[in-house]
Amino acid sequence: MTAVSCCEYRILDKDPVAEAVADNYRTYYEIFIGGFSDSNKDGLGDINGVISRLDYLNDGNPNSGKSLGVEGIWLMPVMPSPSYHKYDITDYYSIDPGYGTMADFEKLVAECNKRDIRLIIDLVLNHTSERHSWFISARNAIKEGNLEDKYAKYYTKKTRKIPGRTWYKFEKTPNGTQYYYEANFSPCMPELDLDNHDVRHEITDIVKFWLGKGIGGFRLDAVKYFHYGEDLRNIQFLKWLNGECRKVKDDVYIVAENWSPAVSIQNYYEAVNCFDFGMSGTEGDIYNTVQGDNSVTEFLQRLALYQRHILQKNSRAILNPFISNHDMDRAADFLDVDEYAMQMAANLYILSSGCPFIYYGEEIGMKGSNDSAPTDANRRLAMLWDDGDTVRDPAGSSYDRARQANGSVKSQLSQKNSLFVHYKNLIMLRRANPEIARGLIEPLDFSQYTAFGGFVSDYNGSKAAVFHNTGENEITVDLAGYTDVEFSEVRGYAGKGRSGLCGSILSLSGYTSVVIK
Ligand code: CA
Ligand code: CA
Repeated sequence: MTAVSCCEYRILDKDPVAEAVADNYRTYYEIFIGGFSDSNKDGLGDINGVISRLDYLNDGNPNSGKSLGVEGIWLMPVMPSPSYHKYDITDYYSIDPGYGTMADFEKLVAECNKRDIRLIIDLVLNHTSERHSWFISARNAIKEGNLEDKYAKYYTKKTRKIPGRTWYKFEKTPNGTQYYYEANFSPCMPELDLDNHDVRHEITDIVKFWLGKGIGGFRLDAVKYFHYGEDLRNIQFLKWLNGECRKVKDDVYIVAENWSPAVSIQNYYEAVNCFDFGMSGTEGDIYNTVQGDNSVTEFLQRLALYQRHILQKNSRAILNPFISNHDMDRAADFLDVDEYAMQMAANLYILSSGCPFIYYGEEIGMKGSNDSAPTDANRRLAMLWDDGDTVRDPAGSSYDRARQANGSVKSQLSQKNSLFVHYKNLIMLRRANPEIARGLIEPLDFSQYTAFGGFVSDYNGSKAAVFHNTGENEITVDLAGYTDVEFSEVRGYAGKGRSGLCGSILSLSGYTSVVIK
């Protein structure tokens, strides 16, 4: 520990100003449309509901201070589907009628583009719905023994069940042969044969269709199941898919769900960007750091190593950190807002490299978990607007609303220290300092502290530094003992307290992070 002399801290006296940087490094917001906002008062969230909430998400002016400020939206599946979550698609070329029309979707794209919000949509290619016309044709063809039928070849099928995957019976052929189709998620979700020539043509048409609507890219569902257990084949397929997309849109943003250990995720970066699952949930690095189970320096060193690994795989690789998504318990269920655990978790991943993904409602500390009932519907509850929005919780949910203790959007918009305001300031701070998202992370060695650490991020020769104090006590350090970089300005801080810089001496309150230059 370095002894420091006292001096008067020069603390932040004005907000930094954010400039627009039009590239792929953005803060995203994941939306389950059915649970977000209901425009026609039938209880189901819809696309016009999302449009009506764009000013809440991003009003187009990064310095207005009036909206959350996200620069990208990930929409969970928009295509027609019999399920509430819509991960089993019956038609890849239209909008689920409960959500609205293609004209509504086109209007949403136009509104997002006006505000420089990059819209990406969920693309489910591993499987279709059993009610998709392709599978209905396939099932009929196999029943008739017509194995040469075009659609019979669209799906993964075998005459014996390969262990480690899940298989269901087709009706036997007229000569008595039993075929099984692969369906790892549910018998209603038969899996496509992604090596089939005609399926590949369909996929090319599908991505052309949606990119042609003006969207910015895709979130790819369940990529490790494409050829289950065969990462190399999956990566080959993803490289092909990335190429097909880039023929249409060179700066397409693709982020894949490969819910696997970090070493597997890193390999997939060779083809596409991936969610960094190792950061998320109650086993993840962010939670462990906020809880003090590993130090901030360990967290940053691991992150820096991870970043170098993915950049070795692909020089265009971009990190995609998050703390929770629609398949996990909500972050406020395991991170306390009143004790600033939630705020510090947000600081760790939003003041970080790449594209952080915020799950809708996270910014107001919405809760929802399947601890009382084993259903993901409890993790996808209706957004707590409390302003007359008629959106209802999804079918099958059973979460006790009395557990929602952190308040609604309406209440948090007007509170100075609400979690919403914290997220808003954090996103603003990140945006006003483009080095944070785009630079190479260079952690400083504060390993003698558990709750304090920081890194320098160098972006085209411009250096910014981020410091986190996840503990309750103020920390004062002489940065000259840790880095040769000379800093002159506090760019902003986010958390419970404040921060000051006097020469090379940095002070940082408990439960607070700071950006300096
Ligand atoms: Ca509706
Ligand atoms: Ca598959």
